[in-house]
Amino acid sequence: MKLVLFFLCLCLFVSCNEPASHVTTQTPNPELAPTVKRAKNIILMIGDGMGLTQISAGLYRNGNQLNLESFPVVGLHKPYSYNNLITDSAAGATAFSAGVKTNNGAIGVDKKGKSVKSILEEAKENGISTGLISTSTIVHATPASFIAHVSSRNNMEDIATYFLKTEVDFIVGGGKKYFDRRKDGRNLYRELEKRGYFVSDYFKEDLSQIVVDFDRKFAYFTANSDPKMASKGRDYLVPASKLGTVFLNNHSEKGFFLMIEGAQIDWGGHAKNSEYIISEMIDFDRAIGEILEFAKEDGETLVIVTADHETGGYSINQGSSMDTIVAGFTTDYHTASLIPVFAYGPGSELFSGIYENTAIHKKMRQAFGFSPELSR
Ligand code: MG
Ligand code: ZN
Repeated sequence: MKLVLFFLCLCLFVSCNEPASHVTTQTPNPELAPTVKRAKNIILMIGDGMGLTQISAGLYRNGNQLNLESFPVVGLHKPYSYNNLITDSAAGATAFSAGVKTNNGAIGVDKKGKSVKSILEEAKENGISTGLISTSTIVHATPASFIAHVSSRNNMEDIATYFLKTEVDFIVGGGKKYFDRRKDGRNLYRELEKRGYFVSDYFKEDLSQIVVDFDRKFAYFTANSDPKMASKGRDYLVPASKLGTVFLNNHSEKGFFLMIEGAQIDWGGHAKNSEYIISEMIDFDRAIGEILEFAKEDGETLVIVTADHETGGYSINQGSSMDTIVAGFTTDYHTASLIPVFAYGPGSELFSGIYENTAIHKKMRQAFGFSPELSR
């Protein structure tokens, strides 16, 4: 109720005010980047394993439309990693989070294993609020690459400890057991509470029932390990995305960085299961719709939607119709095809063209107006 009331006030407030005029920043090398509109907030949405066919299948099965269609800027990135043309999600997300090509499996470290600062950590240093939302565990490769620094994505208990090193303001995802049933005996769930976090989980209450205190940090665990499939009743991605924007928008006046992952599009590809891919794709697109609505009202938010890589060598074959996808797969792993990037809002013009996956990090830093000199 509190939240609903607040949201009403927020809408009134927004509609009564002129849209904020964008601050522009001059970059030292005008050839590389002309004047860029500065974004107060950046929301990076990663559809893990979401190639063009995943998008196409979701679109056809969703009545030939997706929220993705309303993005004015579309580009392509090259997803390969440092040591393999076929990237994994750890190297793929580290390219976005820290702007380096690293080895498959590596989280937030460069090819030599050295820690590299993530955009989330840099945002934090600049007083910008931060959030991570995923439909996998929150210690899984994609979200982990924004906060942890480990050479192997499999060290999930190790990755969880980084949530006590860098305080992320808003966290929603699975993986409760990596926090409170650990081999080392630490209870990170309690440690987060001691740090002043509001911490809750699916076992105690539904996310929608929580009366959120915007002044405290927020962590909610959606499952003990991996959250279930969207088609089996997982329904938190859309409300968590909405809550994340409302929370972060109120948590600090200096803007926010939020990463939202649709993690299981990839898992559908690994399973060579077209229906799994499609339901996860449509769920992710609904979250995109929610985020776009916020960004349109707000006027100072850059929204980027992309994927780390394609999964499955997924194809839509002869005999298909809008309602019936006859799917093919060339692999149960990832592929190296170029990946689409969609952008909306201030700074979105940076994202057209074809570029390396690592350029997304650079473009986000530019949109935030961070100094071109990156201190590692
Ligand atoms: Mg992932
Ligand atoms: Zn994968």
